[in-house]
Amino acid sequence: MTVLQIGVLALQGAFVEHERMLDRLGAGHFQIRCLKDLSVPMDGLVLPGGESTAIGKLMDSLGMTALLKEKIMRGLPVFGTCAGMILLAGEIENDAKRHLQVMDITVRRNAYGRQLGSFFTQGEFAGKPVPMVFIRAPYIVEAGRSVEVLSVVEGHAVAAREKNMLACSFHPELSGDLTVHSYFLEEMVKKGRL
Ligand code: GLN
Repeated sequence: MTVLQIGVLALQGAFVEHERMLDRLGAGHFQIRCLKDLSVPMDGLVLPGGESTAIGKLMDSLGMTALLKEKIMRGLPVFGTCAGMILLAGEIENDAKRHLQVMDITVRRNAYGRQLGSFFTQGEFAGKPVPMVFIRAPYIVEAGRSVEVLSVVEGHAVAAREKNMLACSFHPELSGDLTVHSYFLEEMVKKGRL
């Protein structure tokens, strides 16, 4: 069996932590830092947490936004955490800027507040218990019919899947729990390759 190759957007934010999770699951990965890196064949894509405004600006100035969007729309499995969720969202309730706009969700940025918005809780992801680290996180305020909500915390959707796209508000790469990454690899990347 060939090793999976996951492209990890490495412009800003917590990309190294995602790489460690992929290592632990035996998946290959490489960093996407410029347009040229998008021509490397990949089975899946990770959009890390960080600051969506900064990542979005870098994606635009490096000329990557349109190609990333095209790859996702053609079916490339993608997993966005926190700022990554904001990059995927079709609508951002409290920001004028839009990024990839591929997923039929409306998100609220910094939904738990800016400074005191970081906390830890136990929740469920697709029915499995997972530790959840939230850092100035968004949540989903509205989701289209093709979106399956996978986690709800205090009445708010914090993880969801739509076809080849997975987004979560929390940071599984920081808690070290492999549940969400292994869902992405097993249910989305490997099945997408069949
Ligand atoms: N608050 C950040 C944003 O709006 C997201 C925070 C994160 O990714 N940890 O982009």
